[in-house]
Amino acid sequence: MSRPPNVDEARPKRCPACGTAGRPAGAALQIHGHGRRSRQVRGLASPDGPPETREITLRRYRCLGCTAVIVVGPMGLLRGWLYSAPAIAWALALYGIGKQAAARVRRRVSPWSIVGPASAGSWTTLRRWLRAVVAQRLFAEVRRCPPDWRPKQIAERTAMTLVAAALSSDLALPLEHQAWLGATQLRRAIAM
Ligand SMILES: [Zn+2]
Repeated sequence: MSRPPNVDEARPKRCPACGTAGRPAGAALQIHGHGRRSRQVRGLASPDGPPETREITLRRYRCLGCTAVIVVGPMGLLRGWLYSAPAIAWALALYGIGKQAAARVRRRVSPWSIVGPASAGSWTTLRRWLRAVVAQRLFAEVRRCPPDWRPKQIAERTAMTLVAAALSSDLALPLEHQAWLGATQLRRAIAM
């Protein structure tokens, strides 16, 4: 995210749709640059960093083999979600493992500091993430939760699943850092 790669550096080795090699040896390029797109990412850029909104650049490519358009961006982006996967993991770990109040988690993760009185004690975005986890639309690796589970229990299971995905050399870190790292390992966290 700190230095966007150029069109050659980010060119996919293979087309994810048809398997065509992007740069076959001794032949013409098969995956061509197809412009750039920018999108917003909310959350924190690093564990314990300040909440912020960043603008990042995604590179687009077109496969000559099958005409698919391929979007390449930093790891940890989620299609359809403004917050990055690591930032969501961090928030769910603070809430589910750290047992912090939703309002406190929001202050540490959300770049928006103005909250109406009706939502001062909760955070609708956090609820939306948890509903998506239950519906397996977010962090689909998480085992199904029993229907009577409280939001904090769902958040804890989600965060612990991500902790388990972190690299073993990270074990000395606090659990919320490990959840952050586990979320960056997810290959399916692909940008659009
Ligand atoms: Zn293709």
